[in-house]
Amino acid sequence: MNLILLGPPGAGKGTQARILVEKRNFDQIATGDLLRNEIRNQTVLGNKVKSIIESGGLVDDNTMIDLISNYLYASNNKQFIFDGFPRTIAQAIALDKLLHKHNMQLDAVIKLGVDDDILVKRISGRYNCSTCGAGYHDFFQKPTIDGVCNNCKSTHFSRRKDDTEDTVRSRLKSYHNITDPLTDYYDSRNKLHQINGMADVISISSEINQITDQYCN
Ligand code: AMP
Repeated sequence: MNLILLGPPGAGKGTQARILVEKRNFDQIATGDLLRNEIRNQTVLGNKVKSIIESGGLVDDNTMIDLISNYLYASNNKQFIFDGFPRTIAQAIALDKLLHKHNMQLDAVIKLGVDDDILVKRISGRYNCSTCGAGYHDFFQKPTIDGVCNNCKSTHFSRRKDDTEDTVRSRLKSYHNITDPLTDYYDSRNKLHQINGMADVISISSEINQITDQYCN
């Protein structure tokens, strides 16, 4: 099956996608991660999108559609979770066409709904271990020993440059104006499932499993 995880930044799409990847043979396409990799590797694309991402803006549709198109061509997998794509109606239309071209179809869109104030608190407190990538939070998930990664014992941590409160508010504004119309787009195509993204990770995951069970053996 092919699945889109829809929802505002910080709704938990990445966390749920990783749980699904472990459970089933999905390939997670997280466009934010792909773009951050390009920035880290200082590629032409990375240099082009760096300031847009750091200021909380959206990368243009053609660039994003090319990125997804190349990814689908390069992958042998036939089951994808799209995480962070599409973010505009133009991207959604392009995705329909791309899937059709690859003899694939979109089965379900799962939207995680979370209130803005909770998202700001979630996102502006999050950080990662710079060595192994383990995720932490200033309030909700501190390392057991202050300043030491539980997983690899590194003492180096980093925060995304676009996770400051001001940038989060601007990312949320663009989510509501530009991405939220995708809810109606997919609802009118009978693909949409809405879940309360403010419940705990395990309850959300079990709701998602109930949905994906309908499409997987
Ligand atoms: P994310 O990790 O999904 O929060 O994405 C981080 C940033 O990457 C976003 O704020 C955008 O600047 C950019 N980005 C990721 N996916 C897309 C997309 N589908 N369309 C436009 N920009 C995107």
